[in-house]
Amino acid sequence: MIASNVAFLENELMDVVRLFEGADALALAHEMKYDGETFYNRISLGERTREFSDCAAAETELVYKSLAKRYAKLALYRVLSEHYGKTLPWGALTGIRPTRLAYAELEHGRPFEPLFRDMGVSEDNIRLTAHVIEGQKGIYEKREDNCDLFVGLPFCPSKCTYCSFITAPIAATRKYLPDYLSALERELAAAEPLIGNLRSVYIGGGTPFVLDEDDLERVLRAVARVRGNDCEYTVEAGRPDVFTERKLELCRQYGVTRICINAQSFSDRTLEAIGRRHTAAQVKEAFEMARPFGFTVNCDLIAGLTGESLKEFCGSIDQAIALAPENVTVHTLCLKKGAKLKEEVSSLGEGELSEMIAYSREKLTAAGYEPYYLYRQKYMAGAHENVGWTKAGYASVYNVDIMEEIADNLAVGANAVSKKVFLSAGRIERCGSPKDIPTYLAKAERVIAEKRELWR
Ligand code: SF4
Repeated sequence: MIASNVAFLENELMDVVRLFEGADALALAHEMKYDGETFYNRISLGERTREFSDCAAAETELVYKSLAKRYAKLALYRVLSEHYGKTLPWGALTGIRPTRLAYAELEHGRPFEPLFRDMGVSEDNIRLTAHVIEGQKGIYEKREDNCDLFVGLPFCPSKCTYCSFITAPIAATRKYLPDYLSALERELAAAEPLIGNLRSVYIGGGTPFVLDEDDLERVLRAVARVRGNDCEYTVEAGRPDVFTERKLELCRQYGVTRICINAQSFSDRTLEAIGRRHTAAQVKEAFEMARPFGFTVNCDLIAGLTGESLKEFCGSIDQAIALAPENVTVHTLCLKKGAKLKEEVSSLGEGELSEMIAYSREKLTAAGYEPYYLYRQKYMAGAHENVGWTKAGYASVYNVDIMEEIADNLAVGANAVSKKVFLSAGRIERCGSPKDIPTYLAKAERVIAEKRELWR
C-alpha cells in the first residue's frame, strides 16, 4: 500500500508498485500538488524523499486527472527504478493498451514517441508500438456502429495449470452443456437486432473443439442465423487433442475463415508440466489435418512457462515458424489468482525472459511476420506484453477491434463481457454475465435484458 494525499492516485500508484517485486513491503508515501502550471510530486521511501516537478497546463478536470496520474506514476517509477537498480521494458506505463495512448497522441497531432520516452519506455518497445500501429492500417476504423460478436464456450479437456479463466474440465461440466447451448441460442437470437455493422465473429473459450460434433454444429448453426454477412469468422478450436476432420469440415461448411491451434509450447516436458495432456507431435498433426481446409491459422505460444528453459522456448518459436501459420501470438506468462501454478512459479530470471521476447521478435520478423496488436495484463512476468504477429494480409479484425476498443462487442455466454463503445462521447459501457455456468444459466434472461438496455 502507498499512501497519497490525493485519493484517486492511490490505485494508480499501486499499479507501479506491483511492477517491482517486493516493493509492496517498502515504506512509501506520496504527495502531489498542482499550482495551475506545474505538477509537484514528492515520493518518500523510508527516510529519503525525492521531489519532481513537471510543467503542464490542465484546462479541464479530465486532463488534470490524466496528467496527475501520469506524473505521479512517473515520479514513483523513477524512485523505484533507482532503488532496485533496474528499468522496465514499458517504464512507468501500467495501462494494458499502450497503443491506445499512442493513438491518443497521434489524434492530437503529436508523435507518440516523446511521451513514451518520457515515461521510460524502451526504444525497442517504442519501435514495436510504431510497427503495431502501422500493422493496423486498413483495419483500424472508428465508426459508430461497428460491432463484433463473441460466443463463449468455457469448456476444456483439462485445466492448464497457468489458466485463470473460469473454464473447467468438461468431465465436470458436461452435464450443463444442453442447457448452456439453449441459453446461447436464446442470447444469440436476442442479440441479432442489436448487431450494427458486423465486422467479425469469434467463438472462443475455453476450447470450442472440445464439444462433440453435433454440439459444435448446434453453435455454428445458431451463429449462422444471426451472422448475415461474410465477415471474418474465427473458431478458437484450441488444443490439438480434440481436433477431428469432421469438426474442421463443419467449420468450413458454416463459413469459418480462421482457426486457432494453440500449442503454447513445443516441449513435451513443458506441456506435461502445465497440464495440457497433449504432445508437440499432436500440434503438428492438427496443422496437417487443418491445412487442406484453407483456414487462416493462428498459433499461440507462451514465454515464461514454469520450468521452460530459454532453449526450449526458442525451439518452440522455431517450430511454430516451420509450420507456417499465418498468425503467431506470443504471450508472456500472466498469473492471476485463479492459476494453480502461482504457488510454484518459476524463478526464471527477468534477463532470460527478456531474451525469450527478443528472440521471438527477431525470428518472427525475419520469417516475414509483422506485429499488429499488443496488450499487457496485470501480474505479467517481467512486466512484458502479449503480441499478435501476422503475415501480410492476414491480420485479424477481431483482435484489432478488441484490443483497441474501437467497436462494440456483443458477447454471449458465461463470463462474457459485452462492451458498447460511444465513440463521440469517448466512453465505453460494459455489461457482464455471471462467471460460473449454473449462475449464468439461472440468470440468462436477465443478461439478455441488460444487454438490450445497454444497446438501447
Ligand atoms: S485450454 Fe486455454 S482456456 Fe482451457 S484451461 Fe487451458 S489455457 Fe485455460
